[in-house]
Amino acid sequence: MIGGVTVIAPLNEEQMEQMLANEFGGMDEIYADAYRMTKEKKYLDAAKRFSHKWLFNSMVVHVDNLDNKHANTQVPKVVGYARIAKVDKDKQYANAADFFWDRVVNHRSLSLGANSRREHFAPADDCKSYVEDREGQESCNMNNMLKLTENLFRMNPSAKYADFYERALYNHILSTQHPEYGGYVYFTPVRPAHYRVYSSPNSAMWCCVGTGMENHGKYGEFIYTHVHDSLFVNLFIASELKWKEKGIVIMQQTNVVDRTCH
Ligand SMILES: [Zn+2]
Repeated sequence: MIGGVTVIAPLNEEQMEQMLANEFGGMDEIYADAYRMTKEKKYLDAAKRFSHKWLFNSMVVHVDNLDNKHANTQVPKVVGYARIAKVDKDKQYANAADFFWDRVVNHRSLSLGANSRREHFAPADDCKSYVEDREGQESCNMNNMLKLTENLFRMNPSAKYADFYERALYNHILSTQHPEYGGYVYFTPVRPAHYRVYSSPNSAMWCCVGTGMENHGKYGEFIYTHVHDSLFVNLFIASELKWKEKGIVIMQQTNVVDRTCH
């Protein structure tokens, strides 16, 4: 972590920008979290230096430049924007993250909540390629979109975030693991009469296998949240909440049938 700060220290802004033109994961998120834990400003500065300006500057002024861009290179950057916004109370970062979320959720996602084909965002007015392409929506993208949604919800607990989370979790994530053999899908194509490719358990380790394992651990994560005394029931999932401080227990039951049992 400290090494990373040292490595970028001699780079000027142009060199940083050149480096960040590649897929670099959630570096800004990691440094924002390091700042939250240590309160050392050098980590916040590093988080901001890892904010790829090509994307950030465009999102700040509400210009969508995502056509044909590699989707899961962009989403982790924006998870970082939301983390910076939270730890630094930075409105510009919050604004950039929220605009990106709106563009992806409301203009670049299919009804199941998922985005991209062939790992890239299609032009916003191009729906045809989703139907034709063998490589549909990537699971990793959703892992990061859910993370982004949770982060935005933490700053502004609006129903629009919970609605998207619910739609994406049930319609995309739930279907990404084979119900009997446990493999994960990379893509969820919407091509008519298409097939799915599942990973081989214990031998495949694609990116979507790693995030795939995390995805199915999310079912219990966002059902309930609270802000002070206000309790939010975000997801209708059979569960029991024991809120010790308030001395209450809330139980949800559903009629969802587990088809694998029959
Ligand atoms: Zn992936």
